Amino acid sequence: MEISERFKKIGVNNKAAVRSQMEYFKRIGRKIISLNMGEADFDTPDYIIESAIEAMKTGCTRYTSVEGILELRQALCKKLLDENHVSYLPDEIIVCAGAKQAISNALFALCDEGDEVLIPTPCWDSYPQMVKLAQAKPVFVETQAKDAFIPSLSEFKKKITTRTKCIILNNPHNPTGCVYSRDLLEAIGNLACEHDLYIISDEIYEYLTYEGEFVSMTSISDEIKNRTITVNGLSKSFAMTGWRVGYAAGAKQIIDAMKIFQGYTTSNVNSISQRAAIAALSGSREDVSKMVKEFDLRREFITKKLSDMKQINFVCPQGTFYVLVNISSYFGLSYKDKKIENANDFAAFMLEQANILLSSGELYHAPDYVRISYSNSMENLTLAMEKMNEVLSLLK
Ligand code: PLP
Repeated sequence: MEISERFKKIGVNNKAAVRSQMEYFKRIGRKIISLNMGEADFDTPDYIIESAIEAMKTGCTRYTSVEGILELRQALCKKLLDENHVSYLPDEIIVCAGAKQAISNALFALCDEGDEVLIPTPCWDSYPQMVKLAQAKPVFVETQAKDAFIPSLSEFKKKITTRTKCIILNNPHNPTGCVYSRDLLEAIGNLACEHDLYIISDEIYEYLTYEGEFVSMTSISDEIKNRTITVNGLSKSFAMTGWRVGYAAGAKQIIDAMKIFQGYTTSNVNSISQRAAIAALSGSREDVSKMVKEFDLRREFITKKLSDMKQINFVCPQGTFYVLVNISSYFGLSYKDKKIENANDFAAFMLEQANILLSSGELYHAPDYVRISYSNSMENLTLAMEKMNEVLSLLK
């Protein structure tokens, strides 16, 4: 039996392989410091957990409407109005199993076979694969460290063809940590209007903005709002990755198409998580603020330590909990019989010699880089930076 061509094009999921490797290390008792995590190391706040228990006890355990319960969509409309200054009706919102499902629903709703989707690189590894699963074609718009990974309009323009259907933007940005300015968003939004393109604006790291101001794409103008599908969720902001609650807001016609797709694939998001999401959105942002403050301290710490390492360089992140580090000056150097040829080798060397797990930039279309996630305790970050410094000096 043969699997489909569509799946053959996707290949293995590297992250799944890393997770099983981690489980193996745990089983054999090897202590690894994970600097590859894409989630907060904080626990979901208690008041959210309490609301989930209450939901289970009061019978919120059945199917809900595919698009999510009305009360949750109303709470999301309120959030979008209060925090992002954009007005939506509950019919223009769909609740999905994470931002990830919202993005893939949107791509399936928008793209025909062969349509092109513009993605600034470096990029989150899932975007190109999701585009391919929707039988569209990822087209990469390269950004440079010298421009702080900010995409240029001229690069976008060069890549637009008659088949271009949409642009995926991620702000704040994984893996570079950059935060897009209002002017940049406006320029990209206007370009999309000129060329009749949709925008999928992935704003999942919204709350994790330390420098500059977070601006939601849809808040810029009604014309831009009409062609933008805003994607966000509770995973990163409320430390709720496992609960799987994300959402999309956009024009009713697109949200209706996304509902059809979700209705035939997964139906509604877990009813208990939806109740917990209402509690999260309606509660104070005190826990979120505490978490963000702690991430900012770690950002300061890690960028200071990395600045002291001579042969690496990086652009200081303004948001998220990642820093993308250029390690290409180590390419060609060796330790014993191990030669570092690329970012994968560098990450493997760090794991073997320092017990530190990093993400290779190969995943993110950033072959000269590794991504360090500072979503780990200060104690572990201190240890990891000492170890990293120590083993780097072994490379000759
Ligand atoms: N978008 C980006 C840029 C991400 O980095 C991630 C997770 O790492 C997601 C979306 C997925 O978020 P969720 O857990 O809500 O599916």
